[in-house]
Amino acid sequence: MDKRDEPKCSFCGRGRDEVPNFISGKDGALICPACVEALHNMIEVYMKKAKREEERTAMNFNLKPPSEIKKALDDYIIGQDEAKKVLSVGVYNHYKRLKSKFEDGEESNPLLEKFKDVEVEKSNILLIGPTGSGKTFLARTLAKMLDVPFAIGDATTLTEAGYVGEDVENIVLNLLRAADYNVERAQCGIIYIDEIDKICRKTQNVSITRDVGGEGVQQALLKILEGTICNVPPKGGRKHPDQEYIRVDTRNILFICGGAFVGLDKIVERRSNNKVLGFNENRLNPESGQNILKNVLPEDLTQFGFIPEFIGRLPMVSVLNALTRDDLIHILTKTKNSLVSQYGKLFAIEGAELEFTDEAISAIADKALALGTGARALRSIMESVMLDIMYKLPDAPAKKILISEADIRDAGGIKEL
Ligand code: ADP
Repeated sequence: MDKRDEPKCSFCGRGRDEVPNFISGKDGALICPACVEALHNMIEVYMKKAKREEERTAMNFNLKPPSEIKKALDDYIIGQDEAKKVLSVGVYNHYKRLKSKFEDGEESNPLLEKFKDVEVEKSNILLIGPTGSGKTFLARTLAKMLDVPFAIGDATTLTEAGYVGEDVENIVLNLLRAADYNVERAQCGIIYIDEIDKICRKTQNVSITRDVGGEGVQQALLKILEGTICNVPPKGGRKHPDQEYIRVDTRNILFICGGAFVGLDKIVERRSNNKVLGFNENRLNPESGQNILKNVLPEDLTQFGFIPEFIGRLPMVSVLNALTRDDLIHILTKTKNSLVSQYGKLFAIEGAELEFTDEAISAIADKALALGTGARALRSIMESVMLDIMYKLPDAPAKKILISEADIRDAGGIKEL
């Protein structure tokens, strides 16, 4: 046989004398095992690089120091100073920690040398505060500021796997959807879990009947809170053995849990007063205007019905106050994107000017206070006031509309334009 016709690797050129066998391809192409291995290694290196690059891109969030985060929150959220501070620090530390893994400066930082084996654990956050005090709004505003995916889950819909209800994985699916199914981006997003207080253990004693909506859900949530690889069914619904799953690592997802925790104040008060028994002047006085919940301790939350491991995964706790009448007035008129300015803009588009008297604004705040759902009621009150006016506005001759206290009181009635 002519030497040129002897089989040889199309990549490295080695012949039969050096290579025992080849893998053959189309048109007589051959490749030797050594070249296959070399290519395999190259692809692996390439894939690792590509993944790191994807992760680095996902880490491209807009991170500012805590003081600036807090200042930006002040534009949107009224009051709740302490919660804003806790969240600013919590979010900053969380994202700084993620970012630092990808920043080149890490190796050259001499201060980090002695901590190289230390893994900083993530600090999920627990927000305690009445309905409509801004818990969800805070979490959402933060995610928007940072430009990270955000999803809301409702703890009351969750049950442990195998029971009627929703699997905890569906919360992660919501985040994946918010990230347009970009897993890397979802993995550094924020999940807000509402009504977390509703999954407390129903009784202090272990009962024989299973506590489907309580401790079981806490156990299931605990895993995603601390970090696990979550098999997410891409179309949602219950898990099914034949279904394909998307694997999402929840280790770097920041969880913010919120709830009203009705009754927790009594637990805190009882515990605090027990400790200072005999020193009446030191007893916590609920009439003092001090929010007693600010003294909450992990043991109070256990007493409320949480398993200690679950509480341990929410090391940052912050308490939000019920909004006052002044707060509501402030929210209506002074925040960026306030309802008054939103309606003002809508009217301006229609070529009209909208004004509220001070008394009208106070009346809206009073109506909201009476409903007891914090700032949540403001929008619906405003909508019911404005509906009729907006209905007639395009055809109306008047181009300056003043909303008075009577308009608020008679909302739903007919205002002459
Ligand atoms: P919570 O989660 O505490 O029940 P939300 O955050 O859902 O309450 O509040 C409902 C709405 O009320 C928000 O979307 C926001 O428009 C408004 N709101 C609530 N609290 C505040 C606040 N402290 N400052 C400004 N707006 C607020």
